[in-house]
Amino acid sequence: MTARADEGQRRGSRRPGADVVIDSVGKTFRRSGRRTVALSGVNLQVSAGELVCLLGPSGCGKSTLLRIVAGALERDEGTVTVGGRPVRGPSPDRGMLFQTPMLFPWLTTRKNILFGPRAQRSAGLNERDDPELDAEADAILRTVGLAKFGDAFPHELSGGMQHRAAFARAIITRPSLLLMDEPFGALDAITRLRMHDFLLSMWDQYRTTIVFVTHDIEEAVLLGDRVAVMAGRPPGIQEVIDIPLPRPRDALDADTEAFLGTKRRIRAALTV
Ligand code: ADP
Ligand code: MG
Repeated sequence: MTARADEGQRRGSRRPGADVVIDSVGKTFRRSGRRTVALSGVNLQVSAGELVCLLGPSGCGKSTLLRIVAGALERDEGTVTVGGRPVRGPSPDRGMLFQTPMLFPWLTTRKNILFGPRAQRSAGLNERDDPELDAEADAILRTVGLAKFGDAFPHELSGGMQHRAAFARAIITRPSLLLMDEPFGALDAITRLRMHDFLLSMWDQYRTTIVFVTHDIEEAVLLGDRVAVMAGRPPGIQEVIDIPLPRPRDALDADTEAFLGTKRRIRAALTV
Protein backbone atom coordinates (compact mmCIF):
# COMPACT_ATOMS: atom_id res chain seq x y z
CA MET A 1 0.00 0.00 0.00
CA THR A 2 1.35 3.47 -0.82
CA ALA A 3 1.90 5.99 1.94
CA ARG A 4 -0.89 8.16 0.56
CA ALA A 5 -3.38 5.34 0.37
CA ASP A 6 -2.39 4.25 3.85
CA GLU A 7 -3.01 7.76 5.09
CA GLY A 8 -6.32 7.80 3.25
CA GLN A 9 -7.32 4.56 4.92
CA ARG A 10 -6.50 5.86 8.36
CA ARG A 11 -8.25 9.12 7.69
CA GLY A 12 -11.25 7.15 6.49
CA SER A 13 -11.30 4.89 9.50
CA ARG A 14 -10.98 7.74 11.96
CA ARG A 15 -13.71 9.80 10.43
CA PRO A 16 -16.74 9.69 12.71
CA GLY A 17 -20.13 9.04 11.18
CA ALA A 18 -22.74 11.74 10.86
CA ASP A 19 -25.66 12.22 13.21
CA VAL A 20 -29.15 12.00 11.74
CA VAL A 21 -32.19 14.01 12.82
CA ILE A 22 -35.58 13.03 11.41
CA ASP A 23 -38.19 15.55 12.47
CA SER A 24 -41.95 15.22 11.88
CA VAL A 25 -41.53 13.46 8.55
CA GLY A 26 -44.66 12.55 6.62
CA LYS A 27 -45.21 10.92 3.25
CA THR A 28 -48.41 10.11 1.38
CA PHE A 29 -48.38 8.24 -1.92
CA ARG A 30 -51.06 9.05 -4.47
CA ARG A 31 -51.67 6.61 -7.25
CA SER A 32 -54.70 6.42 -9.55
CA GLY A 33 -56.90 8.30 -7.10
CA ARG A 34 -55.83 6.24 -4.05
CA ARG A 35 -53.95 7.74 -1.14
CA THR A 36 -51.59 5.70 1.02
CA VAL A 37 -50.27 7.41 4.12
CA ALA A 38 -46.87 5.71 4.28
CA LEU A 39 -45.44 7.82 7.12
CA SER A 40 -46.86 10.36 9.50
CA GLY A 41 -45.09 12.47 12.14
CA VAL A 42 -41.95 10.34 12.24
CA ASN A 43 -39.23 11.49 14.63
CA LEU A 44 -35.89 9.78 15.20
CA GLN A 45 -32.44 10.90 16.21
CA VAL A 46 -29.40 8.78 15.50
CA SER A 47 -26.07 9.70 17.08
CA ALA A 48 -22.83 9.87 15.13
CA GLY A 49 -21.35 6.39 14.83
CA GLU A 50 -24.45 4.65 16.14
CA LEU A 51 -26.05 1.52 14.61
CA VAL A 52 -29.83 1.83 14.78
CA CYS A 53 -32.20 -0.83 13.45
CA LEU A 54 -35.55 0.14 11.97
CA LEU A 55 -37.84 -2.78 12.65
CA GLY A 56 -41.40 -3.35 11.54
CA PRO A 57 -43.72 -5.54 9.51
CA SER A 58 -43.85 -5.43 5.75
CA GLY A 59 -45.55 -2.30 4.41
CA CYS A 60 -45.02 -0.16 7.54
CA GLY A 61 -42.90 2.41 5.71
CA LYS A 62 -39.33 1.32 6.48
CA SER A 63 -38.07 1.59 2.90
CA THR A 64 -39.95 4.84 2.42
CA LEU A 65 -38.24 6.37 5.46
CA LEU A 66 -34.82 5.09 4.39
CA ARG A 67 -35.23 6.48 0.89
CA ILE A 68 -36.26 9.85 2.31
CA VAL A 69 -33.12 9.92 4.50
CA ALA A 70 -31.05 8.91 1.46
CA GLY A 71 -32.54 11.82 -0.47
CA ALA A 72 -33.87 9.44 -3.13
CA LEU A 73 -37.51 10.24 -2.33
CA GLU A 74 -39.11 13.56 -1.48
CA ARG A 75 -40.96 13.88 1.79
CA ASP A 76 -44.25 15.79 2.07
CA GLU A 77 -43.66 17.07 5.58
CA GLY A 78 -40.87 17.53 8.08
CA THR A 79 -37.12 17.80 7.86
CA VAL A 80 -34.14 15.45 7.77
CA THR A 81 -30.60 16.53 8.54
CA VAL A 82 -27.47 14.40 8.24
CA GLY A 83 -24.35 15.77 9.89
CA GLY A 84 -26.29 18.99 10.54
CA ARG A 85 -27.05 19.53 6.84
CA PRO A 86 -30.59 19.29 5.45
CA VAL A 87 -31.15 16.43 3.00
CA ARG A 88 -32.21 17.84 -0.37
CA GLY A 89 -31.26 14.99 -2.70
CA PRO A 90 -28.92 12.03 -3.02
CA SER A 91 -25.30 12.43 -1.93
CA PRO A 92 -22.26 10.15 -2.11
CA ASP A 93 -21.91 10.89 1.60
CA ARG A 94 -24.92 8.61 2.17
CA GLY A 95 -24.38 5.03 1.01
CA MET A 96 -27.29 2.71 0.38
CA LEU A 97 -27.26 -1.10 0.38
CA PHE A 98 -30.11 -3.35 -0.69
CA GLN A 99 -31.25 -6.95 -0.43
CA THR A 100 -29.96 -7.51 -3.97
CA PRO A 101 -26.34 -6.33 -4.15
CA MET A 102 -26.33 -3.61 -6.79
CA LEU A 103 -23.26 -4.60 -8.78
CA PHE A 104 -22.80 -3.93 -12.48
CA PRO A 105 -22.74 -7.45 -13.98
CA TRP A 106 -20.43 -6.40 -16.83
CA LEU A 107 -17.72 -5.03 -14.51
CA THR A 108 -15.20 -6.94 -12.39
CA THR A 109 -15.33 -6.59 -8.60
CA ARG A 110 -12.46 -4.10 -8.70
CA LYS A 111 -14.09 -1.99 -11.41
CA ASN A 112 -17.39 -2.08 -9.55
CA ILE A 113 -15.63 -0.79 -6.44
CA LEU A 114 -13.82 1.93 -8.37
CA PHE A 115 -16.89 3.06 -10.28
CA GLY A 116 -18.16 5.49 -7.60
CA PRO A 117 -14.90 7.29 -6.79
CA ARG A 118 -14.05 7.59 -10.49
CA ALA A 119 -17.47 9.07 -11.22
CA GLN A 120 -17.00 11.43 -8.28
CA ARG A 121 -13.65 12.50 -9.66
CA SER A 122 -15.16 13.16 -13.11
CA ALA A 123 -17.75 15.33 -11.36
CA GLY A 124 -14.96 17.21 -9.56
CA LEU A 125 -15.99 15.83 -6.17
CA ASN A 126 -12.62 14.30 -5.28
CA GLU A 127 -9.05 14.53 -6.44
CA ARG A 128 -7.86 11.02 -5.72
CA ASP A 129 -5.67 9.94 -8.64
CA ASP A 130 -5.57 6.45 -10.17
CA PRO A 131 -2.61 5.09 -8.15
CA GLU A 132 -4.25 6.25 -4.93
CA LEU A 133 -7.63 4.80 -5.88
CA ASP A 134 -6.04 1.51 -7.03
CA ALA A 135 -4.20 1.20 -3.73
CA GLU A 136 -7.38 1.92 -1.83
CA ALA A 137 -9.33 -0.63 -3.89
CA ASP A 138 -6.61 -3.21 -3.05
CA ALA A 139 -6.85 -2.36 0.64
CA ILE A 140 -10.65 -2.56 0.66
CA LEU A 141 -10.66 -5.83 -1.31
CA ARG A 142 -8.35 -7.27 1.37
CA THR A 143 -10.49 -5.88 4.18
CA VAL A 144 -13.67 -7.45 2.83
CA GLY A 145 -11.91 -10.76 2.11
CA LEU A 146 -12.03 -10.48 -1.68
CA ALA A 147 -8.34 -9.92 -2.42
CA LYS A 148 -8.32 -12.87 -4.83
CA PHE A 149 -11.57 -11.87 -6.52
CA GLY A 150 -10.77 -8.40 -7.82
CA ASP A 151 -10.87 -9.66 -11.40
CA ALA A 152 -13.94 -11.87 -10.94
CA PHE A 153 -17.32 -10.82 -12.30
CA PRO A 154 -20.37 -10.67 -10.00
CA HIS A 155 -21.83 -13.93 -11.31
CA GLU A 156 -18.62 -15.68 -10.27
CA LEU A 157 -19.11 -14.63 -6.63
CA SER A 158 -21.25 -16.36 -4.00
CA GLY A 159 -24.18 -14.46 -2.43
CA GLY A 160 -22.16 -13.47 0.64
CA MET A 161 -19.23 -12.38 -1.53
CA GLN A 162 -21.52 -10.22 -3.65
CA HIS A 163 -22.73 -8.50 -0.50
CA ARG A 164 -19.16 -7.91 0.63
CA ALA A 165 -18.34 -6.45 -2.80
CA ALA A 166 -21.40 -4.18 -2.61
CA PHE A 167 -20.28 -3.11 0.85
CA ALA A 168 -16.79 -2.35 -0.47
CA ARG A 169 -18.34 -0.33 -3.27
CA ALA A 170 -20.39 1.68 -0.79
CA ILE A 171 -17.55 2.28 1.67
CA ILE A 172 -14.83 3.42 -0.78
CA THR A 173 -16.58 6.78 -1.18
CA ARG A 174 -16.24 7.15 2.61
CA PRO A 175 -19.88 7.82 3.40
CA SER A 176 -20.61 9.15 6.87
CA LEU A 177 -23.95 7.31 6.84
CA LEU A 178 -24.83 3.85 5.56
CA LEU A 179 -28.48 3.03 4.92
CA MET A 180 -29.15 -0.69 4.64
CA ASP A 181 -32.55 -1.98 3.49
CA GLU A 182 -33.03 -5.60 4.63
CA PRO A 183 -29.63 -6.33 3.10
CA PHE A 184 -29.26 -9.94 4.19
CA GLY A 185 -32.91 -10.97 3.91
CA ALA A 186 -32.37 -13.30 0.95
CA LEU A 187 -29.32 -15.12 2.32
CA ASP A 188 -29.32 -18.55 3.94
CA ALA A 189 -29.14 -18.54 7.75
CA ILE A 190 -25.45 -19.43 8.01
CA THR A 191 -24.26 -16.88 5.45
CA ARG A 192 -26.47 -14.34 7.17
CA LEU A 193 -24.74 -14.88 10.52
CA ARG A 194 -21.37 -14.49 8.78
CA MET A 195 -22.58 -11.25 7.21
CA HIS A 196 -23.58 -9.95 10.64
CA ASP A 197 -20.03 -10.55 11.91
CA PHE A 198 -18.67 -8.95 8.76
CA LEU A 199 -20.90 -5.89 9.11
CA LEU A 200 -20.03 -5.38 12.77
CA SER A 201 -16.30 -5.64 12.11
CA MET A 202 -16.62 -3.12 9.25
CA TRP A 203 -18.65 -0.79 11.47
CA ASP A 204 -15.94 -1.04 14.10
CA GLN A 205 -13.30 -0.18 11.54
CA TYR A 206 -15.02 2.60 9.60
CA ARG A 207 -16.98 4.21 12.44
CA THR A 208 -19.77 5.17 10.10
CA THR A 209 -23.33 5.69 11.29
CA ILE A 210 -25.64 2.87 10.18
CA VAL A 211 -29.42 2.73 9.86
CA PHE A 212 -30.31 -0.92 9.24
CA VAL A 213 -33.82 -1.94 8.17
CA THR A 214 -35.09 -5.39 9.09
CA HIS A 215 -38.30 -7.22 9.88
CA ASP A 216 -36.39 -9.81 11.94
CA ILE A 217 -36.46 -9.18 15.70
CA GLU A 218 -33.44 -11.38 16.39
CA GLU A 219 -31.34 -9.66 13.74
CA ALA A 220 -32.23 -6.28 15.25
CA VAL A 221 -31.22 -7.43 18.74
CA LEU A 222 -27.95 -8.90 17.49
CA LEU A 223 -26.93 -5.78 15.59
CA GLY A 224 -28.44 -2.64 17.04
CA ASP A 225 -27.39 -0.16 19.69
CA ARG A 226 -31.06 0.74 19.61
CA VAL A 227 -34.11 -0.52 17.76
CA ALA A 228 -36.75 1.87 16.42
CA VAL A 229 -39.98 -0.08 16.23
CA MET A 230 -42.30 0.94 13.41
CA ALA A 231 -45.94 -0.10 13.56
CA GLY A 232 -49.48 1.17 13.81
CA ARG A 233 -51.88 3.26 11.75
CA PRO A 234 -50.94 5.80 10.60
CA PRO A 235 -47.48 4.28 10.45
CA GLY A 236 -44.77 5.76 12.59
CA ILE A 237 -42.13 4.94 15.16
CA GLN A 238 -43.86 3.47 18.19
CA GLU A 239 -40.91 3.17 20.48
CA VAL A 240 -37.12 3.32 20.43
CA ILE A 241 -35.67 0.54 22.53
CA ASP A 242 -32.11 0.38 23.87
CA ILE A 243 -30.37 -2.96 23.41
CA PRO A 244 -28.64 -3.38 26.76
CA LEU A 245 -26.54 -6.36 25.66
CA PRO A 246 -22.73 -6.09 25.68
CA ARG A 247 -20.79 -6.63 22.46
CA PRO A 248 -19.67 -8.85 20.90
CA ARG A 249 -23.07 -10.51 20.82
CA ASP A 250 -23.47 -14.10 19.81
CA ALA A 251 -26.49 -15.68 18.14
CA LEU A 252 -25.83 -18.63 20.46
CA ASP A 253 -26.81 -16.38 23.39
CA ALA A 254 -30.24 -15.80 21.87
CA ASP A 255 -31.91 -17.88 24.59
CA THR A 256 -30.39 -15.99 27.54
CA GLU A 257 -32.78 -14.07 29.79
CA ALA A 258 -31.33 -10.68 28.77
CA PHE A 259 -31.79 -11.48 25.08
CA LEU A 260 -35.30 -12.88 25.53
CA GLY A 261 -36.34 -9.92 27.69
CA THR A 262 -35.25 -7.50 24.96
CA LYS A 263 -37.13 -9.49 22.32
CA ARG A 264 -40.26 -9.43 24.51
CA ARG A 265 -40.08 -5.63 24.81
CA ILE A 266 -39.76 -5.29 21.06
CA ARG A 267 -42.64 -7.69 20.42
CA ALA A 268 -44.83 -5.70 22.80
CA ALA A 269 -44.02 -2.47 20.95
CA LEU A 270 -44.88 -4.16 17.63
CA THR A 271 -48.37 -5.16 18.72
CA VAL A 272 -49.83 -1.68 19.16
P1 ADP B 1 -41.75 -1.50 4.05
O1 ADP B 1 -40.40 -1.18 3.49
O2 ADP B 1 -41.82 -1.32 5.53
O3 ADP B 1 -42.21 -2.86 3.65
P2 ADP B 1 -42.67 0.58 2.24
O4 ADP B 1 -41.97 1.80 2.73
O5 ADP B 1 -42.10 -0.08 1.04
O6 ADP B 1 -42.80 -0.47 3.44
O7 ADP B 1 -44.18 0.94 1.92
C1 ADP B 1 -45.01 1.62 2.84
C2 ADP B 1 -46.39 1.81 2.22
O8 ADP B 1 -46.31 2.71 1.14
C3 ADP B 1 -46.99 0.53 1.68
O9 ADP B 1 -48.37 0.57 1.90
C4 ADP B 1 -46.68 0.60 0.20
O10 ADP B 1 -47.61 -0.09 -0.56
C5 ADP B 1 -46.75 2.10 -0.06
N1 ADP B 1 -45.84 2.52 -1.15
C6 ADP B 1 -44.50 2.44 -1.15
N2 ADP B 1 -43.97 2.96 -2.27
C7 ADP B 1 -45.03 3.38 -3.02
C8 ADP B 1 -45.16 4.01 -4.31
N3 ADP B 1 -44.08 4.33 -5.03
N4 ADP B 1 -46.42 4.28 -4.74
C9 ADP B 1 -47.50 3.99 -4.01
N5 ADP B 1 -47.45 3.42 -2.80
C10 ADP B 1 -46.25 3.11 -2.30
MG1 MG C 1 -39.08 -2.36 2.39
